Amino acid sequence: MQIMSRGLPKQKPIEGVKQVIVVASGKGGVGKSTTAVNLALALAANDSSKAVGLLDVDVYGPSIPKMMNLKGSPELSQSNLMRPLLNYGIACMSMGFLVEETAPVVWRGLMVMSAIEKLLRQRRTNRDHGTGEEQRVDWGQLNYLVVDMPPGTGDVQLSVTQNIPISGAVIVSTPQDIALMDARKGAEMFRKVHVPILGLVQNMSVFQCPKCKQRTHIFGADGARRLARTLDLDVLGDIPLHLNIRETSDTGQPIVFSQPESDEAKAYLRIAAEV
Ligand code: ADP
Repeated sequence: MQIMSRGLPKQKPIEGVKQVIVVASGKGGVGKSTTAVNLALALAANDSSKAVGLLDVDVYGPSIPKMMNLKGSPELSQSNLMRPLLNYGIACMSMGFLVEETAPVVWRGLMVMSAIEKLLRQRRTNRDHGTGEEQRVDWGQLNYLVVDMPPGTGDVQLSVTQNIPISGAVIVSTPQDIALMDARKGAEMFRKVHVPILGLVQNMSVFQCPKCKQRTHIFGADGARRLARTLDLDVLGDIPLHLNIRETSDTGQPIVFSQPESDEAKAYLRIAAEV
């Protein structure tokens, strides 16, 4: 596939959105969505004057509705634009709002691209030769739009990076070799398409036994830090493997919102301050 670089005419900003930050991972299950949700909340918590949105383009396994405790379909504005759903002060859009929870997203290729295009943009203008009748998203005015990407380096990732100007990418990995190998591929992809990489988040970096306080590096120690050195990238921070992170995600009460004074929430707040 031909790769278009930043600034080419195909790239158009999303109306009303100042900065787009993508959260990516090479591999599934490493905590990308958990990081995206808590990063969005932490960006808003660090500066209450900033409006933050969250877009889930993980079309095959959208997790944002559950993690943000949101159900239902977006309302349509008078001008037929979809209004994002709102919770904890964050404007959210997800493929999960547009398809039944139990329905598998079996779309492929062009249909997925078209769905993403709709989630990203407002109505086409006449200049874009559009009819203006398609339903798109009214993001309002946002300082940050955090985008939860699908894992890996496939067509969806390329389409997003080619179609909108991205301020930066946050790459999430566990310290485990197999996750790091894929994180490296993700970093290489962003470099090829000239998307600045803000840094790596090392998730599940350590587990501390709540009883005896012994610390165990279940997925290995400091793997993401070593990778960051090799690739000349920053490490934005470490997030421990912690029951509260898993439980608060599963119950739709993300830790930065529900336990802002916890050490784990503070780890996300520090990462947001680096972004
Ligand atoms: P991905 O988006 O990379 O597929 P998720 O964010 O959905 O990964 O996380 C996968 C699972 O791991 C979820 O059940 C989530 O609650 C859990 N999880 C993610 N990060 C942590 C963490 N630091 N501590 C405990 N559980 C975590």
